[in-house]
Amino acid sequence: MTDMENALYVVATPIGNLGDITLRALETLRSVDLVACEDTRHVRHLLDHHGIKVPTLALHQHNENEAAEKLIRLLGEGRCVALVSDAGTPGVSDPGARTVAAVRAAGFRVIPLPGPSAAIAAMSASGLVDQRFLFVGFLPAKVGARKTAIAELAPVDAALVFYEAPHRVMETVVDLVELLEPQREIVIARELTKMFEQIERMPLAAAPAWLAADANHQRGEFVLVVSAPPPREGMDAETERVLAALLSELPVKQAAKLAAEITGQPKNALYARALQLKDA
Ligand code: SAM
Repeated sequence: MTDMENALYVVATPIGNLGDITLRALETLRSVDLVACEDTRHVRHLLDHHGIKVPTLALHQHNENEAAEKLIRLLGEGRCVALVSDAGTPGVSDPGARTVAAVRAAGFRVIPLPGPSAAIAAMSASGLVDQRFLFVGFLPAKVGARKTAIAELAPVDAALVFYEAPHRVMETVVDLVELLEPQREIVIARELTKMFEQIERMPLAAAPAWLAADANHQRGEFVLVVSAPPPREGMDAETERVLAALLSELPVKQAAKLAAEITGQPKNALYARALQLKDA
């Protein structure tokens, strides 16, 4: 062991290209006493690739509580441990949150080592995320629950980011087309950082046909990024922004009155919109 701090290190690992690992992540994985990981064989591949020899411990959704207790015992003995997932950032649609919460509650330090995450990679190359985004992760697998979830997301004033499995990507995209405004656009990002990476932007309505056009278009791992909803009729984005900013500081009535003075828009419409924003 080097003179590392006694802590849990949460380490992001590649989402496809083994080269996508930070210098700090390599140094940490080399120096810790143990690496807790979802699938020990999977992480061994990464460790072997970088010539790192370190014991591993399986920590997955079915044994996370017990595994976290083991980590806490090791931390109590003054050891340093790392937590990784199969790919990307632990805790992002992956196990990790319960472990981190338990370790923090036990009074130990948790140190994040940022790196790859499929959601961030897709967003960064989508050109669709200008301001706010909502990371949804996986939608429910059952049709009814999925449609309800999408309907609830429809009015959210933010770009939406989904993870999806290849066998469900078509159904999900068809539901998005059915339930979201037709003006919205989608970026289908598949196999990011891998040999057959594709990042395709299109109107939402065109996505099912694109997926159907080639069997390869439905293979691999997917992130779907959907642009934010179009600005509501009669209210431009700047008016919305002013209103939202005022609402964050003032009561609804006062915010609407001031927004009307600043933007020249009708006070009633601003008041109605302010109520909606507050409820949301
Ligand atoms: N923790 C990971 C992260 O930070 O991105 C996500 C793990 S989640 C169990 C796996 C999902 O992430 C996949 O089903 C897919 O939706 C997305 N994903 C992971 N790697 C990907 C890649 N190389 N290209 C596109 N999507 C990917």
